[in-house]
Amino acid sequence: MEVRVRMAPSPTGFLHVGTARTALFNWLFAKKNGGKLILRIEDTDLARSTPEFEKDIVEQLEWLGITWNEGPIRQSERLDLYETHLKRLLDEKKAYWCTCTKDELEAKRKEMLESGIAPRYDGACREKHLGQDSKGVIRFVMPEHAIGFTDLIRGHIEFKGDMIGDIVIAKSLKEPLYNFAVVVDDEDMKITHVIRGEDGIANTPKQLALQAALGFRHPHYAHLPLILDASRAKMSKRNAATALAEYRAAGYLPEAMMNFLALIGWHPEDDKEIMVPEEIAKIFTLERVQKGGGAFSLEKLNWMNAHYLRAMSDAAIAKRIGWEDSGKNRRIIALVKPRAETLNDFATHGAFLFDLPKYEPELLLWKDMAPGAAKASLEHVIALVEKGDAAGIPKLAEERGRGETFWPLRVALSGLKESPGPIEILDALGTDESLRRLHLAIGKLEKIS
Ligand code: GLU
Repeated sequence: MEVRVRMAPSPTGFLHVGTARTALFNWLFAKKNGGKLILRIEDTDLARSTPEFEKDIVEQLEWLGITWNEGPIRQSERLDLYETHLKRLLDEKKAYWCTCTKDELEAKRKEMLESGIAPRYDGACREKHLGQDSKGVIRFVMPEHAIGFTDLIRGHIEFKGDMIGDIVIAKSLKEPLYNFAVVVDDEDMKITHVIRGEDGIANTPKQLALQAALGFRHPHYAHLPLILDASRAKMSKRNAATALAEYRAAGYLPEAMMNFLALIGWHPEDDKEIMVPEEIAKIFTLERVQKGGGAFSLEKLNWMNAHYLRAMSDAAIAKRIGWEDSGKNRRIIALVKPRAETLNDFATHGAFLFDLPKYEPELLLWKDMAPGAAKASLEHVIALVEKGDAAGIPKLAEERGRGETFWPLRVALSGLKESPGPIEILDALGTDESLRRLHLAIGKLEKIS
């Protein structure tokens, strides 16, 4: 049977890294098994869903390199389909209208809590047999028996029968709620494997019961572990960037991000870390997904991104960061690359090459060097550069002292306390700009001599 999986984001926020990881695992599973991936936009919550969030979801998935075979399919465009099945359940008395008010429900809830019962709907409207034109919500008759399933990652999970109560599956015939719409769609789209976050576990018995009532197949289920932050807490907006777009804006490469996300909660047998998506897809199995939370380590992401950056040509990096592919730009990229962790580092770490930062003349002085000595040192360098003999600088440093030569030179060229080495900077800047900066430094030193 053809494997068919889905990614089912709700457009109620920017694409979350957790949702991206879930999408990626579905993509890997589909690829590994020669199956199909469907993008389904779960926008039944009309008040919270927006076209902007949907656009972000599609854009970020595309950026990451996740491709899908069908969709995006919007639930909001399939209301007739849900209505048909809602009516069927109502006709078959497997669902009923409920007109209990919020206050009534709240009062009952309190009562149950007070008598030590886990609160759930008491089924008060079940016997009222309210008509189709009823104003209330639609509740599903939950079976009394226990419901279990075998999770492909976690093994057998069982829910006691009397825990859930009759759930609301629609606010009206045209307003299905999450659990109902998912069940109808998973059947209609012939989904064979539901691979989703751990937070979906509690919904699974409801969905299994609905499938049984509707005469649908049960897909296989696999619930992925949560993503935890550095302090092993659930990753949340309060303590980390959670939108994939934020990582993209921070200069992470999609290939590094994909590799990184694939290793949250899954790893290959040989613990290999750097792997292109095709390589991962060949060996990916749900059996190797771990049960416990997977850590999101920014340190690891930085390391991985740096690795991918170093594997890229200078011209390719220029293209990614939108720089003209000129000789000078390539030299700057080559200079920054060994220390770069993100694409943004080229602009930030390379900024001093475009514009000399303002600096105090004292910064030019190595230890307790006198301004006159620093000036003399720079003049020697100028003489060499003017002759086109920059290669002679190391020899000069041997004669006059390394710190005394390299420090004033490096500061004159970079204006920074810390930077790459002076010879590399000189090379990246070119002769004219280097000489201009050296003369400027001499001017500064003359002011404090
Ligand atoms: N729409 C759900 C979410 O965004 C996904 C639920 C599912 O995969 O069944 O969390």
